[in-house]
Amino acid sequence: MKPEIAQRCDLFYQVLSDFVDGALEEVDMTYVEEHLRLCPPCEVYLDQFRAVAEANQRLQAKADAPEVDRILRQVLAQWQAAKGD
Ligand SMILES: [Zn+2]
Repeated sequence: MKPEIAQRCDLFYQVLSDFVDGALEEVDMTYVEEHLRLCPPCEVYLDQFRAVAEANQRLQAKADAPEVDRILRQVLAQWQAAKGD
C-alpha cells in the first residue's frame, strides 16, 4: 500500500463505522490498521467513536424501559394485592 494512501484520514472516516461493526473487507482492515499506526489522532478518534457507539447502543436498549416499568408496576400491584392493601 502506498504511504500517501495509508495516510489519508478521509478514507479512514469513510470506513470507520464498518470497522467498529467488524464489517470491513480484509483489504480495508489492512488500510485501517496501517492508518492507525501512522496517525495517532485517528486512533484517539476511534476510541471516542467506539465510546459514542456503545453509549448509543445503551440508549437504544433503554427504548424498552417503559415496558420494564409496566412489568414492574404489575408485579408491585400483585404484591400489594397479595398483601391485602
Ligand atoms: Zn488519520
